[in-house]
Amino acid sequence: MGFVVAVDGPAGSGKGTITKLVGEKRNLVYIDTGALYRCVTLYIIKNNIELDDITSIKKCLDSVNIEFKKENGQDLVFLNGEDVTKRIREKDVDELVSPVSHIVIVRENITTLSRKIAEGKYVIMEGRDIGTNVFPNADVKIYLDATPEERAKRRFKQNREKGINTPYEEILESIIIRDKNDKTSNVAPLKQAEDAIYIDSSNMTIEEVVNRVIEIIDEKKAN
Ligand code: C5P
Repeated sequence: MGFVVAVDGPAGSGKGTITKLVGEKRNLVYIDTGALYRCVTLYIIKNNIELDDITSIKKCLDSVNIEFKKENGQDLVFLNGEDVTKRIREKDVDELVSPVSHIVIVRENITTLSRKIAEGKYVIMEGRDIGTNVFPNADVKIYLDATPEERAKRRFKQNREKGINTPYEEILESIIIRDKNDKTSNVAPLKQAEDAIYIDSSNMTIEEVVNRVIEIIDEKKAN
C-alpha cells in the first residue's frame, strides 16, 4: 500500500533537514528528488552535453545510475558508482540544475524514477512538484517556505559545514534566480498544491518545524 508524505518548497526552505529528521522519527524512507536532478546535471556538465541536444540528453538519461546509500549515519548520493554527495552542491551544478530540470524528457524520466523508488514504501519525499505532479494523491502534503534571505543564510551555513565555501551574496543571488526559474517553468512550475499545508519556517526553529510536520502526519494516520 505505502504511505507518501510530499514536502515541496523553494531552494533552502529547510526541506532537506526537515524531511530527513521527520523520516528518522517516523520511520519513513527519505527521498531527495533534487539530488536526482543534480546528478543528471552533473553528468551533463562532465560530458559537455548541450541542453538543446536532445539525442545526447536521452542517451545521458539511459547511462545515469543514481543510488542513495546510508554510510556511518550519513546520507550519500552515488552517480554511476562515484560518491557525488558534495560535488552536486557546487556552483556549476547549482547554476545549471534549474534549466536541466525544465527539459521535458528529464522531468518525465526523474518523475518515473521517483515513483519507482517510492513504490509500496512508507516515504517522505522532498522536491518541487511532489504534491502537484509526482504524487498528486499523496497522503500528506506540506509546502515549506521561508524568505530568500533566511534561505540563503541557511544554505550558507549548511555549505560551510560540508566544507563548501561559496560566499553568502552569491548564494542569495543564485536562490533568487532559481526561484524565478522554478516558479515560471512551463513544464512543472513550483507552486503549492491546493490541498497542501503551508508552513512559513522563517521564524521557526528546526525542532518547531519538525514537530509541526510530525503533528500533521500523526493526525492523518489517526484518521
Ligand atoms: O532541492 P534542490 O535545491 O536540491 O533542487 C535542485 C533543483 O532541481 C531545483 O532548483 C529545481 O530546479 C529542480 N527540482 C525540480 N523538481 C523537483 C526537485 C528539484 O525541478 N522535484
